[in-house]
Amino acid sequence: MSKIRTRFAPSPTGRMHVGNLRSALYEFLIAKHDGGDFMLRIEDTDQERFVEGAIDIIYRTMEKTGLIHDEGPDKDGGFGPYVQSERMKTGIYMEYAKQLVEKGEAYYCFCDKERLSGLKSEVVEGKEITVYDKHCLSLSKEEVEANLAAGKPFVIRQNIPNEGKTTFHDELYGDITVENSELDDMILIKSDGYPTYNFANVVDDHTMNITHVVRGNEYLSSSPKYQRLYDAFGWESPVYIHLPLITDENHKKLSKRSGHSSFEDLLEQGFLTEAIVNFIALLGWSPEDNTEIFTLDELIANFDYKRISKSPAVFDYTKLKWMNGEYMKAMDDDKFYEMALPYLKQALTRELDLKKIATMVKSRIEVFPDICQLVDFLEELPAYDPVMYEHKKMKTTKESSLEVLKELLPKFEAQEDYSNDALYQVLVSYVEEKGCKNGYAMWPVRTAVSGKQMTPAGATEIMELLGKEESIYRIKKGIELLENA
Ligand code: GLU
Repeated sequence: MSKIRTRFAPSPTGRMHVGNLRSALYEFLIAKHDGGDFMLRIEDTDQERFVEGAIDIIYRTMEKTGLIHDEGPDKDGGFGPYVQSERMKTGIYMEYAKQLVEKGEAYYCFCDKERLSGLKSEVVEGKEITVYDKHCLSLSKEEVEANLAAGKPFVIRQNIPNEGKTTFHDELYGDITVENSELDDMILIKSDGYPTYNFANVVDDHTMNITHVVRGNEYLSSSPKYQRLYDAFGWESPVYIHLPLITDENHKKLSKRSGHSSFEDLLEQGFLTEAIVNFIALLGWSPEDNTEIFTLDELIANFDYKRISKSPAVFDYTKLKWMNGEYMKAMDDDKFYEMALPYLKQALTRELDLKKIATMVKSRIEVFPDICQLVDFLEELPAYDPVMYEHKKMKTTKESSLEVLKELLPKFEAQEDYSNDALYQVLVSYVEEKGCKNGYAMWPVRTAVSGKQMTPAGATEIMELLGKEESIYRIKKGIELLENA
C-alpha cells in the first residue's frame, strides 16, 4: 500500500471550532499511526468568508496542540503551493476543468443571469439553486470558441448524465447511492475564474496524493458530487471518513452560543491544551478498553479510525472539567505554579507564599479560574455565620468553640514560631491537656482563620500562610462573633 497522506484543510474563517480541531486531530492520528504524512492546506477560495487573522489562529492552534504538519505553506514537501488562492494562480483548476471539457465531462456555459432566473430551482442543502437545463451543452466547438474570443463571461459546468446512479463510499456510513438525475450540472469554474469549493477540494486531494479525508458529516450530502468528479477524471477517490455531529448537552449542534465551541474559548476558560486534545479525541472515537486519559503519543499508538462511531458526539462540559482536573493533578508542581500564578495574583494581593498555595490547590481544582474562589479567604476574612462552628461529627457547638478559641488565643499569642509544624504542636499539646479529640479544637480554629466550611488546607497550614498578626486578628474576630451570637 502507498504511504498514508492526510491533510487538514481549514478555511480561514475565524476561531478554531472544536469540530475542525477534531478533524485535524483524526487526520494527524491516522497519518502518524502508520508513519504517514500529515499536511496543512489552506482553503481560502471563498473570499467572502475570509477573516483577517484566521490563518494565524490555524498555525497557532496546530503548534500548541502538537499537531505538527509535515508539509504545508511553511514546509514545502513538493506538492505546493499549499494555499488554494496561490494554487489558483498557477492555473491548475482551469487546466483540470479544461481536461474535463476535452473529455466531454464538462462544458462551457454562457447563460446570463436573466436566462438562469427563468429556470426552475430546487432547494439543496437549505440553499435554493437553479437546476440547469444543459442548454449550453449543445453549443458547437466553433460557437464556444467564438464566444470565448468575444470575451463573453462563462462558467464551466460538469456534465452529469441524466441516467444511471452514482455510489459514494464512506468508511463509516457505507455506500450512499443517488440517482444521477437528482444531481445538478454543478459549476466547476465560476465566472470570476475561481474554482468552486468542491472542485478545488477534489483536484487538490488528488494532485496532492491524499489517501484519507476526514471531515464533518455536513459534507456527506455533497459526497456523490465528489464521486462524480473522481469518476469523470478516472481517478481513484481517497478513503472518506465523515465524522458524527458534535452536539451540546441539549443535543443541538454545538454552536458559538454554547460559549465553548472553539479551541480559543476553551483556553480562555482555563483548560489545558493537553486535556482539550484528549477530550476532543474522544468526541466520536473510543478505544477498545475504557481508557480515557491519553497523551498525544498514546493516541497515535491507539487510534483506529474504524472505531469511530456514527452517533452524534455530545460535548460533555462536566467531563471536560473532570479530565482537566486529572491533568492538573498529574502536572509537575513548578509548571503548575507557573501557570497558576496569574490567577493567584488576581485573587491575592497581600504578601503570601504563592508557591505553597499553588501546591495546596493543585489537586482541588478542575480549571485555573477555580483557584479564585478557593483562595479568596486568604486575601480577606469573609463574613460568615457562627452556625458554621457547629459540627456534629467533631462534637463542636458555638459554646464549645468559644471556649476553645479563648483558651487557645493566649497560647497562639505567646507563640513565636508560626510554622505549620510548630503551630500543630501547640494544638496537639492543648488537645492532650484538655483530653478532647483533635477535631474538637481544630474545627473552631480552622473556621475562625478561614471563615469557610471548606478550605484547601488545615487550620495550622492556613495560620502559617497568614502569619501571626492576621491569624490572631481572625481568632479574635471569631471570639467576638461567638460572643455576640
Ligand atoms: N475547508 C473545509 C472546512 O474548513 C474542509 C473540507 C474538507 O476537509 O474537505 O470546513
